Amino acid sequence: MEAADNFAFLLPFILLTFGSAFLLVARYERRPALSWGIGYGLAAAAFAGPSLRFWLPIPAVALICDALFIGAFYFYGQAMLEHFRRPTYRLLRGGLALAGLAAAVYADLVAGDLELELLFNDFVTVLLLFVPLVLSVRHPRRWLDVVLLGLAGMVILETVLRNIFLLLARVPADMADFATSDYAAIMQTTASAISLLLALTALATVALDVLARYRHAAERDALTGMLNRRGFEQALADRSGRGGFSGAVIVCDIDRFKQINDAFGHPQGDKVLVAIAAILTRYLPAQALAARFGGEEFVICLPGYALTEAGVLADMLRLAVASHGWPAIGIDRQVTASFGCAVAEPGDRSVHDAIVRADANLYAAKTEGRNRVVSLVGAERGAGAAGKGVSFSPVRSCSR
Ligand code: GH3
Ligand code: MG
Ligand code: MG
Repeated sequence: MEAADNFAFLLPFILLTFGSAFLLVARYERRPALSWGIGYGLAAAAFAGPSLRFWLPIPAVALICDALFIGAFYFYGQAMLEHFRRPTYRLLRGGLALAGLAAAVYADLVAGDLELELLFNDFVTVLLLFVPLVLSVRHPRRWLDVVLLGLAGMVILETVLRNIFLLLARVPADMADFATSDYAAIMQTTASAISLLLALTALATVALDVLARYRHAAERDALTGMLNRRGFEQALADRSGRGGFSGAVIVCDIDRFKQINDAFGHPQGDKVLVAIAAILTRYLPAQALAARFGGEEFVICLPGYALTEAGVLADMLRLAVASHGWPAIGIDRQVTASFGCAVAEPGDRSVHDAIVRADANLYAAKTEGRNRVVSLVGAERGAGAAGKGVSFSPVRSCSR
C-alpha cells in the first residue's frame, strides 16, 4: 500500500507539471493550451483532494473532488473543441457540469450514497468528454490528432468499464473506507495512466500547433499569403532533396507599380499585390512553387517544365493580369506585369542561377516596353536558338 500511497502523492505533482507546461505554452498560443492547463490544474487538485480528509468531513471532501473532476473534464472538452476548431457550446456543457454537480450534492448530502455519487460524477465527466469527442472525431489534421481522439475515447471506455465493474462488484458502503479501498487504488492507477498519456499527446499537439504557426509566419508573406524567400528556399529543398532543381523559372514584376502607389495610395497598391498574387496562384499548376520575393516581384518555379512551356504559361499569366477587372478595387487604369523565363542548366549551382537568367530576361522585357514575356536575351537571341541547341523562338507578347 506504501507504493500506492507514494504514487497517489506523486500524481497531483505530475498533473500539476503538465498543467504548468500548458500554461507556459499558452503564452505563445492561448487556445487550446490555456484550457488544457486549467483542466490539468483542476485534475491535479482533484487527485490531491483526498488528503483533505484529515481536516474536513468525508462528504465535503467527496464533493470538492467531484467539483474539481467535473471542472477538469469541462476544460478538457473545451480544449478538444478548440483544438479541432469546433463550436464550443459553453452554455450547454456548463449546464451539464452544473447538473452533474447538483446530482452529486444530492447523492452525497441527501441520499448519503457514495456509489450513486461516483456514478453521477463519472456519468457527467464521460458526457463532458463524449460530446466534444463526437463533435471532433471527423476533423483530425495530423496523425497525432487521431491518437488524441483515441486516448479521449479510452478515457471514456475506461470510465464506463470501471462503472460496470463497480455495479457488479459493489464498493464499500461506508464512505470513510473509500479513500483506502482497492476501488480507489484501481481508479487512480488506470485513470492516471490514460490521463498522463492524454496529457503527453495533448502537449505534443499544442507544441506542434505553435511550431506550425511560427513556421507559417516565418515562411509566408503576411500580405499575400504566398511563400516568402525563406519559405521558397525551404519548400524547394523539401521537394528537390539531393537531386537539385530541374525545370523552368518565371520571374514577374509589376509594371510602374510606384505610379500606382503614388496615384491611388499605398493601401490600394497592397490590394493590387494581393490580387496579382491570387491571379498567379489561380493559374499555376499544382506542382508549381510561387513566392513573393521582394516588394512587387514574384518568382515561380516549375519543376519538369521546358522553356517553351514556361513561356506559354507566363504569357497566360500576363494576359490574366492585364485583363483583370481593376476598377473593381478602385484602380481605374490597366495594371500590367512583365515576365522573364529561364530553365535550369546542367552547370547550375542552384535554382538561383536560373533565377538570375530569368531576371535578366525580365530586365529585357522592361526595357523593351513592359507588359511582355521574354525567354531569351542578348547573345542567345542574337545567335538564335540553334546557337544553344534550343529549337524554339523567344516568347514575346506585346499586347498593350
Ligand atoms: P518597373 O515597371 O520598372 O518595375 O517600375 P516600378 O515602379 O514597378 O518599380 P520601382 O522599383 O521603381 O518601384 C517599386 C515600388 O513598389 C516602390 C515601392 O513603394 C512599391 N512597393 C514595394 N513593396 C510594396 C508593398 O508591400 N506595398 C505597396 N503598396 N507598395 C510596395
Ligand atoms: Mg515593378
Ligand atoms: Mg521591382
